[in-house]
Amino acid sequence: MEVLLLQSRDNKGKLYIVSTGPGSLLQMTPGALKTLGEAECVIGNKFYLDLVTPMLAKKEVITSSMGQEVDRAKKALELAEDRVVAMVSGGDAGVYGMASIVLEVAERSGATVPIEVVPGVTAAVSAAARLGSPLSGDYITMSLSDLLTPWEEIERRLDLAFQMRVPVVLYNPRSRGRPHNLGVAIGIARRHLPAGTPVGVVKNAYREGEERLITTLGGFEEHFTFVDMHSIVFIGGEETRIWRDEGYERGIITPRGYHRKYVY
Ligand code: SAH
Repeated sequence: MEVLLLQSRDNKGKLYIVSTGPGSLLQMTPGALKTLGEAECVIGNKFYLDLVTPMLAKKEVITSSMGQEVDRAKKALELAEDRVVAMVSGGDAGVYGMASIVLEVAERSGATVPIEVVPGVTAAVSAAARLGSPLSGDYITMSLSDLLTPWEEIERRLDLAFQMRVPVVLYNPRSRGRPHNLGVAIGIARRHLPAGTPVGVVKNAYREGEERLITTLGGFEEHFTFVDMHSIVFIGGEETRIWRDEGYERGIITPRGYHRKYVY
């Protein structure tokens, strides 16, 4: 019995943690689409499942809520004992996503189920494309969510990050539960960067309701209410600039440094 069970685990079941990108199926990698297409069972939270609805026909679909990540991880591992399961995670599953909790739960429980993480396009990258090229070189990402990291620690890291004077991307910038974190983060940025520093916000990149805003660090406060859970915020570094064309903000550019080497 024991041997059979182990064999059936090894032969049949597998858990894929599938990154679904920013939202549009067109921004999912072919590898992620193929994996999702081949899965017998798909598990994820409603928001991300809804974004991949066309891929879910004829599959067993298990919807789990936000805040239930540990249970979802356990459930997925259990289901994957004898079938091919895809757990969906937005953007890239390894970036403020589901990959680590699934691996931790598997490690702790000694699960023998094979697990594969399928990479995807994270919001920093997809939203950057909507703004032009605000990242280009070295940059830092931070999450302003203090659900899993103490706020004092986030503040300490923000202070160090802005001292680098490279672009800083803020995930989870503002939610109803913590509307003030963004203001505090911008206050910290102002200690190290001038008021004219470019700021970009992309809301719902590659999804319905996509919007973008380009402003400066000094002028950002009046736009805080524009920012929500589905937005990502870019604070420029010391070399970042806004590309203006007859008063219209075409985008944000952080030069990579070609101007130091070539004439163009
Ligand atoms: N794993 C995801 C991030 C999850 S954290 C990834 O790699 O993208 C959730 C945060 O990501 C949101 O609060 C928002 O800041 C950002 N985000 C995710 N998708 C986004 C999108 N399509 N447009 C703008 N921001 C997005």
